[in-house]
Amino acid sequence: EMERKILLETVGLECHFGGLRAVSNLDMRLERGKITALIGPNGAGKSTTINLLCGFVTPTAGRILLDGKDVTARPPHRLAKAGMVRTFQNGRLFSRMSVFENAQIGNSSRMAASVFDVVRRGLRWRTEEVNLRRRVRDLLDEFGLLADADRLVTELPYGKQRQVEMVRALAGSPDVLLLDEPAAGLNSVERENLALYLEELRGRGLTMLLVEHHMGLVMKVADHVVVLNFGSKIFEGTTEKTQKSSVVAEAYLGR
Ligand code: ADP
Ligand code: MG
Repeated sequence: EMERKILLETVGLECHFGGLRAVSNLDMRLERGKITALIGPNGAGKSTTINLLCGFVTPTAGRILLDGKDVTARPPHRLAKAGMVRTFQNGRLFSRMSVFENAQIGNSSRMAASVFDVVRRGLRWRTEEVNLRRRVRDLLDEFGLLADADRLVTELPYGKQRQVEMVRALAGSPDVLLLDEPAAGLNSVERENLALYLEELRGRGLTMLLVEHHMGLVMKVADHVVVLNFGSKIFEGTTEKTQKSSVVAEAYLGR
């Protein structure tokens, strides 16, 4: 069978919190191996969209298709297993754990959906665990974090802590990586390195959704841009067209 060009698609996706339409009738398509940026003013619904895609929040209506398969309202561990992995806007590191433990945790999800799975799969599980440890090591090495592997994660500077989160996400071998403001709190050198790394990941074929406040980063790396305002898609197009769009400019000015 031929590979689908669109790896992830939402159709009429809706998320209501009481009377608030956090996401409204969203049609969005992520092309395989590309970086799609999701931008918009504060409160536009970007994080909610990521929460919907990775199953943290159940949609009020609409559908999510992963590689053509309807995965709407599946629980997070099953979506992770299907290849959908996310990072968090505000970070979610465990302060009393080491760098290595933080990088490894939560990523058994890609290997086993439940304790039942672990029991059923027995020995294979052990092998997968060893493989995961190896993958975490390789990724830490890639980020120059291997020497810090046994340190408490809180002993690292902030920029490196964010890298640990990236390692954790990548250790799950995602097909789709959902990044919620990965450049938040980074200095310009770290941001530049992040841009290079995202391009590198794209080069390896990873499909990414980049929610990002920092426009310089978006314009540098995104292949396609989707703009939200008050939960609705108000624009989509290339980075060039997005920069020239008066609709987009007004959305940012008006908030
Ligand atoms: P963004 O990431 O674009 O800044 P969010 O997706 O975080 O925006 O939020 C969109 C809107 O939904 C905001 O008005 C926010 O207050 C609201 N919201 C987000 N999550 C919840 C929730 N769990 N319960 C109620 N309202 C929420
Ligand atoms: Mg957000």
